[in-house]
Amino acid sequence: TPPARIRNFCIIAHIDHGKSTLADRMLQLTGSVEEREMRAQYLDRMDIERERGITIKSQAVRMQWGVDGEEFILNMIDTPGHVDFSYEVSRSLAACEGAILLVDAAQGIEAQTLANLYLALENDLEIIPVLNKIDLPAADPQRFAGEIANLIGGDAEDVLRVSGKTGMGVEALLDRVVERVPAPVGVEDAPARAMIFDSVYDAYRGVVTYVRMVDGNLRSRERVEMMSTGATHELLEIGVSAPEPVAAKGLGVGEVGYLITGVKDVRQSKVGDTVTNASRPATDALAGYTEPKPMVFSGLYPIDASDYPELREALDKLKLSDAALNYEPETSVALGFGFRVGFLGLLHLEIVTERLRREFDLDLITTAPSVVYEVTTEDNAVHTVTNPSEYPEGRIIEVREPLVRAAILAPKDYVGKIMELCESRRGSLISMDYLSEERVELRYSMPLGEIVFDFFDHLKSRTQGYASLDYEPMGEQAAELVKVDILLQGEKVDAFSAIVHKDKAYSYGTMMAERLRKLIPRQQFEVPIQAAIGARIIARETIRAIRKDVLAKCYGGDISRKRKLLEKQKEGKKRMKMVGRVEVPQEAFIAALSGD
Ligand code: GDP
Ligand code: MG
Repeated sequence: TPPARIRNFCIIAHIDHGKSTLADRMLQLTGSVEEREMRAQYLDRMDIERERGITIKSQAVRMQWGVDGEEFILNMIDTPGHVDFSYEVSRSLAACEGAILLVDAAQGIEAQTLANLYLALENDLEIIPVLNKIDLPAADPQRFAGEIANLIGGDAEDVLRVSGKTGMGVEALLDRVVERVPAPVGVEDAPARAMIFDSVYDAYRGVVTYVRMVDGNLRSRERVEMMSTGATHELLEIGVSAPEPVAAKGLGVGEVGYLITGVKDVRQSKVGDTVTNASRPATDALAGYTEPKPMVFSGLYPIDASDYPELREALDKLKLSDAALNYEPETSVALGFGFRVGFLGLLHLEIVTERLRREFDLDLITTAPSVVYEVTTEDNAVHTVTNPSEYPEGRIIEVREPLVRAAILAPKDYVGKIMELCESRRGSLISMDYLSEERVELRYSMPLGEIVFDFFDHLKSRTQGYASLDYEPMGEQAAELVKVDILLQGEKVDAFSAIVHKDKAYSYGTMMAERLRKLIPRQQFEVPIQAAIGARIIARETIRAIRKDVLAKCYGGDISRKRKLLEKQKEGKKRMKMVGRVEVPQEAFIAALSGD
């Protein structure tokens, strides 16, 4: 297809504003998916995406659309809207010339609408503003068209109105994509340069690499070179997703499609890399993407210690398709053998653990999420701490923590409550802007560590669900942070150590000590539970000793009852962990970690 007949675009929106549903209608209207094959959220292929109704992986799909008797190829890329996956969004954007900015006509602009819009503008994309869900009785397109026009300039009348659900306005939208999105530009007879924007592992086909051709062309069966490593592979298959894979002879300038080379690991086909012809390689690679850095770390432990090898295998498998996943083995006194795993954010953590449970049938405990701290000790060594229990001993000169720029959008009535919450989380206000008379955007700089716990839940409950949040890294700062340890009879329980601001050390300590007192059964002796900063005890609780022997009741009584009781205790012991002399049922640790 000549580039003049190609349009590459994506849909950007806040979560739930209807991208996937709109994509469904487009697939239908363009005849890409037959009626009987159609199902809701067609492009969300993972079970977990379908159940939760969220898109995790980007999807590229090729459609055909005729305007005035001319056929065009539309390549649409559906992207996730959630902050954790914004690196997926940014790489999809780089593969497009235009973006549909989709806004729920009953909700208006939200935090991720803005975040994604800014990314699109940075990538010089043509923006097509669209209000969705106009079939809803609560839709107020008049008002929100004004809001959008305020934001991106232009005329409120120019904002298209559609319903992804009923299909209303979607044909006009496809026409507008053809009209407004610029055709791709590239050099046809140059050595090939194809940008890898996604790479997924497929059990049957191996790694499937999604590319956007910038210059030249790639042909089936030729040898290609990955420019970052110089590794060469034979192209076993090249094709397009329409949306089912369709093999082709080759791909030329501006086209979007997939490559299969037989590699087994997504890391060999790295997102952001440039693919070129091995016989005539390009001299300069395309500008890549910045690699996503894990922001949040958590320990993952199998509840049944014998599942450890399976957990390792499962992580290895997930890594094949999730290049952002990072892990290394770790051991814990309380929890045994497990892994320290790095995630892009909390949703990523949740999705990965859920997939481990579901696709690999593993029962897991996760420790409290921690961000990455830089700790400078007296000898001027800088330690990178992703696990509080590895916090260096001795005198600390400085602790630095990651900061984010958080954007919160909400109706103006909630501003006071939001400010209160942000201030209690050590946030400092950067700016406050009115999007309209009703709605406000607040920008805060805030420690990421204060967001990863339960910030979003608190934000939602204080605003009756109306606030939306987005954040991006914004460097780091020195802060007065301390490590709080929890001790059982003088022994540290590593899984409960936490790095917190000094003003919150006491409340963290008392909360954990109290929680454990309630959860750990009495022993033959008194067990002190203490919270400490270094050698300084900041809180204490006591588990009193058992007075009566459990077996006393059975003396002289029924011998079989006594045996049963002993057996039951023995069974219980398997799940017991020893911390010094103290026997703790594993459930107590799990419950204390999950906070209920
Ligand atoms: P995404 O998160 O942006 O991909 O949003 P989805 O396509 O998953 O849609 C989120 C929710 O909004 C789902 O419950 C959809 O059924 C609903 N929805 C999407 N488009 C429309 C629409 O045009 N009208 C109505 N009434 N509901 C819609
Ligand atoms: Mg979706």
